[in-house]
Amino acid sequence: MKISIVGTGYVGLVTGTCFADTGINVTCVDIDEKKIKNLENGIIPIYEPGLDQMVLKNVEKERLHFTTSLKESMEHAEAIFIAVGTPPGEDGSADLSHVLEVARQIGRHMNHYVVVVTKSTVPIGTAKKVKAAIQDELEKRGAELEFDVASNPEFLKEGNAIEDFLKPDRIVIGTESEKAEKLMNRLYKPFVLNGHPILFMDIPSAEMTKYAANAMLATKISFMNDIANLCEIVGADVTNVRRGIGSDTRIGNKFIYAGAGYGGSCFPKDVKAIIKTAQLNNYNLRILEAVENVNDDQKKVLIKKIKQHFPDIKGKTFAMWGLSFKPHTDDMREAPSVVIANALTELGAKVKAYDPVAMEEAKHELGDSIEYGKDQYDVLIEADALILITEWPEFRVPNYKVMDKLMNNKVVFDGRNIYEPEEMKEFGYTYYSIGRPSIKE
Ligand code: NAD
Repeated sequence: MKISIVGTGYVGLVTGTCFADTGINVTCVDIDEKKIKNLENGIIPIYEPGLDQMVLKNVEKERLHFTTSLKESMEHAEAIFIAVGTPPGEDGSADLSHVLEVARQIGRHMNHYVVVVTKSTVPIGTAKKVKAAIQDELEKRGAELEFDVASNPEFLKEGNAIEDFLKPDRIVIGTESEKAEKLMNRLYKPFVLNGHPILFMDIPSAEMTKYAANAMLATKISFMNDIANLCEIVGADVTNVRRGIGSDTRIGNKFIYAGAGYGGSCFPKDVKAIIKTAQLNNYNLRILEAVENVNDDQKKVLIKKIKQHFPDIKGKTFAMWGLSFKPHTDDMREAPSVVIANALTELGAKVKAYDPVAMEEAKHELGDSIEYGKDQYDVLIEADALILITEWPEFRVPNYKVMDKLMNNKVVFDGRNIYEPEEMKEFGYTYYSIGRPSIKE
């Protein structure tokens, strides 16, 4: 079996590599020539645990190929997956220009039956637009060819993408033909053998499922952040509240951690896009509008605490641990670290940051407005406070003796509640976290 994956980013590269690992012949396509050249030379463009070995193995077995030519990748392909970006447009709706451009190109080069599968996160009705764009191109060149479209949204999490793809909770596939369903079934069979169901449904429901899933997860986070802020006001500890509610099986203990707000390439854009879809259909998704507002404010909660502690912030130096929007990824899209670093530098403070893998990506966002350290302790030299933004495992058990020696003041702002207030007190630190009583020395 041969397939083509268009768009070799976080989703496309992981999808292509995991399919290749099951024995399928996969060609990954991208318009970014540098990315493809690097991949051909064994250089993996993103940080994703386990991905590099898997790519190299499948390239060696000649099951995984890279090209900039969509036409070439389509030769004998039975399915073409569209996995290009769908960034937010100016009005918040998903920008479909890349998806539809790929659809038009498919229509221009198609010469046999193929299933065109949308894997990118796209609003309801996109599969119809993809179908129309392909049909339009076929008509322009007078070709009469049969094809099907399908929707197969992706639920992988960056940082755990391979595991998520190989052992998904479920695989959602929207189809409108038996032929397409049969082909998708064949493709995903190796993953079903692991006991994970394929949920076949109509295409609009599949498209909607992806947005509803991300919107629900974002809602859980914003809900908990709102509760955390109230906890602080009334003197409760959100960590205890989380344990208290998480043990209720109806609620569950996942995605109810308070923090400095959600970021990344998915939640912010997908919440925006579904709100826009509703508005275009004369409906207001009131809960999600609140979810978005809470999150925007939550990214600023640490700044408020920092300003309260340091009324005269100009000239102060802040060490920042973590830059990526979450651990185990180098993705900086919509990362709270950017909002906080920009606010501090605008107020005349100096920021010195360290992240185990995201510093190169961070430079695209923050440039030389901040300094980058060579390790987590390097950035603490003469720092007036430490700000913890991303909960990388290596930040969890800091060496307090070394910290004491390096820092000007023993002050920590913890945006992810990874330290114990009691421990901070024992080591003589002033400690601020989210939704928990502060420790003031
Ligand atoms: P990305 O930005 O990492 O990758 C997209 C790739 O598509 C880029 O390499 C870009 O050069 C390429 N591209 C753009 N136009 C192209 C064209 N005409 N032909 C060939 N290649 C083209 O994006 P991503 O994070 O992989 O996300 C892709 C889609 O998957 C988005 O819709 C996103 O919402 C969705 N998604 C992402 C995640 C995630 O965790 N990143 C998870 C689930 C779903």
